[in-house]
Amino acid sequence: MTPKSKHRTKHKTDGDIQMKIQYILGTGAVLLLGAFSLQRCLGGEQAVPAQIQTEEEQTMTYKVQKTEQEWKAILTPEEYEILRKKATERPFTGEYVHFNEEGVFVCAACGNPLFDSDTKFKSGSGWPSFYDVLNSDAVVLQADNSLFMRRTEVVCAWCGSHLGHVFNDGPDPTGLRYCINSAALDFQQDASEK
Ligand code: FE
Repeated sequence: MTPKSKHRTKHKTDGDIQMKIQYILGTGAVLLLGAFSLQRCLGGEQAVPAQIQTEEEQTMTYKVQKTEQEWKAILTPEEYEILRKKATERPFTGEYVHFNEEGVFVCAACGNPLFDSDTKFKSGSGWPSFYDVLNSDAVVLQADNSLFMRRTEVVCAWCGSHLGHVFNDGPDPTGLRYCINSAALDFQQDASEK
């Protein structure tokens, strides 16, 4: 190797390191930007910390217990990913986003009555939104610190399935916004007769 080519090789190596650093910094910036966008998209503010279950309480057992295979057998692949794996459906794609019939929304996994259509409101978020639960025992709230965010996860109190999140930017009278995946819900028209 001539001194000239050696110099070229060294120069190229420095450039490579510089490019790698730029790539890492760039990737980090993209990830942070993505997380920020998602946080804005989903609401951002952590809600009702006083109601959040402690870590010890989060280990509670639910009265509806099934194995992963049993859940897979009764849920569609999309329902399974959302309810059992905490995935989130894409905004404005769920069947209950623009849905105004009167009745009760139940857990798609176990049938637990969760939300009354009277408390459903147009949030513009792209997910079905409710300002209250059907009763205080319907759901359990858990701290969710994933994706660089501090959010409050809403899970079914009967089966522990993931439903969505709750934020404190909702309308009166509660000021809450339960942001719920359509795929986590089934609708029962008859159950609205009170
Ligand atoms: Fe459930």
